[in-house]
Amino acid sequence: MLTESDITHELIVGFEIHVQLATRTKLFCGCAVEFGAPPNSRTCPVCLGLPGALPVMNRRAFELSVLTGIALNCEIAERSKWDRKSYYYPDLPKNYQITQYDMPLALDGQFDIATDDTPLPISIIRAHLEEDAGKNVHDTPGCTLVDLNRTGTPLLEIVTEPDIHSAEEAHTFCVQMQKLVTYLGVSNGNMQQGQMRFEPNINVAITANGTEHRTPISEVKNLNSFRSVRSAIEYEYRRQVQDWLADPGYVIKDRPNENRGWDDDRGVTVFQRGKESAHDYRYFPEPDLLPVEIDQEWLTDTRAKLPELPQARRRRLVQTYALSAADAAMIVSHRATADLFDAAISAGCNANTLAKQFVNVWARFANDRGEFVGSLGIDADRIAGLARLVDDGTVSASAAKHIAEGMLESTESPESLADAMGLVAVLDTDQTALWVDEAFAANEQAVRDAVSNPKKAKKAAGFLRGQVMRISGGKADPKLTGELIEARLAEMDQS
Ligand SMILES: [Zn+2]
Repeated sequence: MLTESDITHELIVGFEIHVQLATRTKLFCGCAVEFGAPPNSRTCPVCLGLPGALPVMNRRAFELSVLTGIALNCEIAERSKWDRKSYYYPDLPKNYQITQYDMPLALDGQFDIATDDTPLPISIIRAHLEEDAGKNVHDTPGCTLVDLNRTGTPLLEIVTEPDIHSAEEAHTFCVQMQKLVTYLGVSNGNMQQGQMRFEPNINVAITANGTEHRTPISEVKNLNSFRSVRSAIEYEYRRQVQDWLADPGYVIKDRPNENRGWDDDRGVTVFQRGKESAHDYRYFPEPDLLPVEIDQEWLTDTRAKLPELPQARRRRLVQTYALSAADAAMIVSHRATADLFDAAISAGCNANTLAKQFVNVWARFANDRGEFVGSLGIDADRIAGLARLVDDGTVSASAAKHIAEGMLESTESPESLADAMGLVAVLDTDQTALWVDEAFAANEQAVRDAVSNPKKAKKAAGFLRGQVMRISGGKADPKLTGELIEARLAEMDQS
């Protein structure tokens, strides 16, 4: 009997991701896509699957899908077609789903999920459009109810190669995929509302006595949080290794692949069913819809419309302005925020001061309000204006926080707010010296540390500077204050 110390193993993960597209209406009818509407109120003969009703493709859904395919570096098919995938389920009234089987709209892409400069490319096998099913509702005792509001909602399914080898990479991949689709505006990416569902295909390559064995693949269905993606993969990794150790016959050729569900309360995956193969679904071409032919001129236009994507944008901010990776990542994480940052730079201000204010000032106010910096409603000119006030020494960084707060409450310029709030920095040496006196008198221990305790000197001097800023109500000029404190400490050291 082998034990864990006799083997080496590597995790292998590929993904199927369902992304709900941000269209106003469903994929093949005019019903509204709306979360939380009264059950079965957003339905019509087409999405109810009534005999004789005919589907009409939603052009916008196709365009959003192509845009995503381009962003994933896919080849966009000149011609793609629709197929019926047959299965019976109470929330699928037609008894088939319209999807794209052998001619998907996008193929052979690549998505780089690197967070530093080492590339980590994930190959994209394909992306295709399909319609969502309805929902079985189990909250009434003794029966299951069916709500068909979701039936026919457009979903883009993205399928990757098994290029991922840790739960951490899988987590990063899912986070960045959500960032990408929200950046493109193709999906709202709301996980709580099930607008992105992740299905990792997981197995393990186990090497024992020089021979490699592969465990059967399990597909964990419908994960709708990043945390559950990570936990489910970690769990499956351990389970598959243990199952193989208990029974070396647990390998891909002897066992069917499995669909499993994630039980969040117990922290385990649960067997659902053996996995179907394609022939079980009786795919055949959808007779009620024409294949989609792509106009090359339109495709060229669409390519040109692709915005700068998050990864490239983050790299640009780091390279052009020497921002820290963390600051750049924060600014880029939301598209309107990144747009505001670029617009403020164009309006004229120092990028580093601006980045500091985005991270230390604006992001805090935004968080408190459940918003993003880019959705606070402050225009680029005023944002740049505040950064300039700090840069040219008109106000201190701490005064800028108060002014920023004022900017959120009014439409006044930061300059006039600084005046009105009495926050314009005082460059008067005598006045500043008085504040320094007061700070020294009130903080004797810090003064002693700054003069004679080398371990604490730097921190103590910083503390005294902070006290001067506090006493002055943020009006002391930081540079002048620092110089006066340093001179005073040097004097004391000699006496
Ligand atoms: Zn409908």
